[in-house]
Amino acid sequence: MDCPVCGKPLAPPSVQCSLCKAEVHRDCAKKLTGRYYCKRCYRQGKKMARYERMAQRRALGQHAPKKLW
Ligand SMILES: [Zn+2]
Ligand SMILES: [Zn+2]
Repeated sequence: MDCPVCGKPLAPPSVQCSLCKAEVHRDCAKKLTGRYYCKRCYRQGKKMARYERMAQRRALGQHAPKKLW
């Protein structure tokens, strides 16, 4: 199997894209919030990481009172 990012045969160290599960060289993968993404999924991963952060912030905002009366 070839690495979908650089097109060369896969060799260790390789990692798995956390979105499409494709195996890519570790050097070809992009790391984002502790997860690896292939080139194709990196943009999607970045978007998802932002959504996750937003959801986390929203969850925190609901727990912490905004005003003290
Ligand atoms: Zn590669
Ligand atoms: Zn991928």
